[in-house]
Amino acid sequence: MTEALLQVEELVKYFPIRRGVLQRTVGHVKAVDGISFAVNQGETLGVVGESGCGKSTMGRSVLRLIEPTKGKVTFNGKNVLSLNKPEMRAMRREMQIVFQDPYASLNPRYTIGQTLLEPMKIHNLHSPGERMQKVHSLLERVGLASEYARRFPHEFSGGQRQRVGIARALAVNPKLVILDEPVAALDVSVQSQVLNLLEDLQDEFHLTYVFIAHDLSVVRHISDRVMVLYLGRMAEVADSEELFTNPLHPYTKALLSAIPVPDPDAKRERIILQGDLPSPANPPSGCPFHTRCPVAVDKCRQEVPAWREVKSSHHVACHLV
Ligand code: SF4
Repeated sequence: MTEALLQVEELVKYFPIRRGVLQRTVGHVKAVDGISFAVNQGETLGVVGESGCGKSTMGRSVLRLIEPTKGKVTFNGKNVLSLNKPEMRAMRREMQIVFQDPYASLNPRYTIGQTLLEPMKIHNLHSPGERMQKVHSLLERVGLASEYARRFPHEFSGGQRQRVGIARALAVNPKLVILDEPVAALDVSVQSQVLNLLEDLQDEFHLTYVFIAHDLSVVRHISDRVMVLYLGRMAEVADSEELFTNPLHPYTKALLSAIPVPDPDAKRERIILQGDLPSPANPPSGCPFHTRCPVAVDKCRQEVPAWREVKSSHHVACHLV
């Protein structure tokens, strides 16, 4: 079996809650609470859950943009969490991220050309002349005219800015790209254009994606496998087609039931979840989903469900499956 490009084991990220004049730690926000997964070269893993389920914190912890509390991250055979600062900086060339809000992530004082040159300079890639050529070819590759290099971010639409964000990630020839809700801020028509672009770029540059989204329908076609998170923990992981045709976890079923069906004659019963996502500072006992689960039983309030493989490559954490 080939070794996974990215392997994450028991990743934990707790944020301390501090109070009082002495800023004593009085508790923790358990944003990510023991997540494990592997992504193979060229594969796309979709990561889905409501806002506040820990998916973005997980993505940033993998890249050490925020420091994880515990766990192990192995990228291309290297233990990422043991790297010192210069080693980590070098590693980041191969592990890039595209953020949800392209406007906030672009420096408004930099032209698009400067924005794309910056990562190449930081990683000392190419000669100065080659860098400008690379800027122009990257812009064209993401569907923007090369003369846009002289313009500033405020001159672009949301979809164009996201194309710049993608070009910036690709400027350093990464192996892995974490896409953190890359289309959530875009109109539906622009979303599909950007998704198609991401798929084309993946084929062309042999990229591996971790695609984070709050909407299952967005990850359906682009993902090989999908992981559903709830309150910082894994609820279900399966191959994309299997997850969509045979969801097993009640939370996955509820998320799927919210996707509109294109055929007006086809019926799908909508499962409305009661209540809000509980606070990750005070997660429920037992199964974290029991406060909203429509089929919860007594055991769910007391015992954390084990993470089990119920079918080939289909894992779920639920007492009733
Ligand atoms: Fe629902 Fe219980 Fe399964 Fe949790 S373990 S998802 S509460 S049935």
